[in-house]
Amino acid sequence: MNSATLYIYNSYSKSKEVFKAINPPFVGMYVCGPTVYNDVHLGNVRTFLTFDIVFRLLTYLGYKVRYVRNITDVGHLVDDADHGEDKIAKKARLEQLEPMEIVQKYTIGFHDVMRLMNIIPPSIEPSASGHIIEQIEMINSIIANGFAYEVNGSIYFDVLKFNEEYPYGKLSGRVLEDLLETTRDLEGQEEKRNKADFALWKKADKNHIMKWNSPWGEGFPGWHLECSAMSTKYLGKVFDIHGGGMDLKFPHHESEIAQNIGACGHAPVNYWMHSNMLNFNSKKMSKSEGNSILPMEMVSGEHPLLDKGYSPMTLRFLFLQSHYSSEIDISIKSLQDAEKGLKKIMNALSYLSKIKWKQGLIHPETVSDIIKLNTEIITHLCDDFNTAKAIADLYAMATYINTWYHQKQEVSEIPKDIFENLHKIYSEIVSDVLGLKEEKGADNNTLDAAMNLIIELRQQAREEKKWSVSDQIRDTLKAAGIIIKDSKDGQSTYEIEN
Ligand code: AMP
Ligand code: ZN
Repeated sequence: MNSATLYIYNSYSKSKEVFKAINPPFVGMYVCGPTVYNDVHLGNVRTFLTFDIVFRLLTYLGYKVRYVRNITDVGHLVDDADHGEDKIAKKARLEQLEPMEIVQKYTIGFHDVMRLMNIIPPSIEPSASGHIIEQIEMINSIIANGFAYEVNGSIYFDVLKFNEEYPYGKLSGRVLEDLLETTRDLEGQEEKRNKADFALWKKADKNHIMKWNSPWGEGFPGWHLECSAMSTKYLGKVFDIHGGGMDLKFPHHESEIAQNIGACGHAPVNYWMHSNMLNFNSKKMSKSEGNSILPMEMVSGEHPLLDKGYSPMTLRFLFLQSHYSSEIDISIKSLQDAEKGLKKIMNALSYLSKIKWKQGLIHPETVSDIIKLNTEIITHLCDDFNTAKAIADLYAMATYINTWYHQKQEVSEIPKDIFENLHKIYSEIVSDVLGLKEEKGADNNTLDAAMNLIIELRQQAREEKKWSVSDQIRDTLKAAGIIIKDSKDGQSTYEIEN
């Protein structure tokens, strides 16, 4: 285990706390996954990327993380409350498909996007519809403890009763009296004792397709219940970290806390983490706002708000340049800057392995600066996953690396062990923790075009017997890691040295 102290901003206590795992080196982390009724947009990607970094850093520090991220495939209704059509059933009706065909189609699409963005899959990816029995059992416990009631085949959580014993609204900063005043009068609310109550189970009418038998008749679970039931099943009654987007604090996470306490008598999570929103033109990116960009549109550039395509790693880098707790407003300028920044970081990564260490005159200032950067970068990441500051450290490291590479492809002003440490830390942070990888596709087209031209010019020089020119081209390319191969039939090809 790495001895660095990790600090996490806990949205529940609203303070930065030292991370102490319940049962080190094991860590249990639950993140709310997507509702699979349409394509994930860049905003969703930002949230899943935040928790990819949490997972990667914990793993880097030596923790063994059981990472659970669910698939919501039932119970999330169109108004995000307790009434209306199920989002998946509605899409199934519109596309004339089975609800599970919709679930399958958009789950596959979601996984494709996660792979594209180099987001590591969770250890367990349970679905709500696969855990109906666990949800019914949890409702039974909540009823037995006196925090839920049945009306006409539906079960509601009794928020007022709960609030007599436990604080309701602490996570999201809501005051129950205000909620009772301001909650909208929605159709279907009349069954509830109070407007703040929420559904644990809803009776299904005869046209409802996604329904299951229960002790209260045919119905389906409320949206919030699946996460309580599945986190308890796979991580236990109390676990380390629970994450999601800021917009899930209320009502989703507030309800989760109430359900878990209602069923088990104690709070489920030690550290609540919330990732901030991705905006476009200062508005939260969302399908319903009509301002969402899909990852595939970002890559192809086929979107009216984009000037060209940007690669997945450019987007990843752009997101990581901000701390997860700040909002990001995406713009063409920020994408262009991220593209340049990423290039500098990735070039330095490839130069590192080509730079040779040589005994020479030590430069004390460089030595102390590199030592500082080598430790500071980990400290920054351990300071509530501050990827923004870690990237600033990488830029500073990359400036040294570029200078060494371009001067003589060697470094002599720092001791060997410090150079080796820089090499190790730089590569591990870029690849393992930030998850940035070399992108072949787009760059290769540009490289191919340039190399074909160079090979043609060299061919001409050879035909004109200008051997020194042709040799100079070959040797200069070799020094840059590109090998020209001449075949017997006079054709030349190139290869990048590993
Ligand atoms: P959903 O599929 O709507 O339940 O959303 C999946 C995840 O994406 C949740 O954690 C949301 O909080 C998050 N999310 C939705 N919109 C945005 C956005 N514009 N920026 C960041 N995260 C978002
Ligand atoms: Zn959830």
